[in-house]
Amino acid sequence: MSDRLSFPDDEAIHPWLSRLLEAYQITDEGVAEGIRRETEQGRTLACARGCAACCRSHTTIPVYPLELVGISWYVTEKLEGDLRTRLKRQLREYSEQPGCPFLVDDVCAIHPLRPMACRQFNVFDRVCAEGEDAYFTRRQDVLTPIKTYTDRAFDVTLPFYGIEKKSERREAIKEGSIHRIAKVLRECNWDSLAEKMEAYDRNRDT
Ligand code: SF4
Ligand code: SF4
Repeated sequence: MSDRLSFPDDEAIHPWLSRLLEAYQITDEGVAEGIRRETEQGRTLACARGCAACCRSHTTIPVYPLELVGISWYVTEKLEGDLRTRLKRQLREYSEQPGCPFLVDDVCAIHPLRPMACRQFNVFDRVCAEGEDAYFTRRQDVLTPIKTYTDRAFDVTLPFYGIEKKSERREAIKEGSIHRIAKVLRECNWDSLAEKMEAYDRNRDT
């Protein structure tokens, strides 16, 4: 079972954070189970820390509104030191740069709060070539997320969007209506997040 990330003080202030962390725990459990099933079939996970060609090449990573709130909170209130300074600059300059705005020295600066799509993208047997999106070049090597876990993960986020009743949540999952509110990570206004970080820093220093 995956450990659930825990930020007790922040969760007491932000109820949405508990939902998001629970969704990520379920997602991570589903990914671990999917990888376990594949490795039992003799496959080898190619993904490893510092392997980041996917973060440079993928252009259509979906990110949901609750995830954006989580990313905004994490980078604004939790990132410190050199990583914070560098990420802020990178977000400022993002429109001119290729790759994911959160990739710093081939490491994901928001790794604990990275979107569900990033958590679920895992490739077997061979590391992706630079510029390759294995989903299109060799779909058979890409982990297929286990639907029951994905559905449960989305289900716990639905009250954030005002979909609270069990029957309505079930319908939303079945119809896939949640996917209509996803944004594309690369197309978000990251400059405004850099501004938010700066405003937070100014308030902290005064
Ligand atoms: S998806 Fe490809 S590039 Fe990304 S970590 Fe896995 S093997 Fe490396
Ligand atoms: S959010 Fe993190 S894991 Fe996802 S593409 Fe960006 S750097 Fe990679």
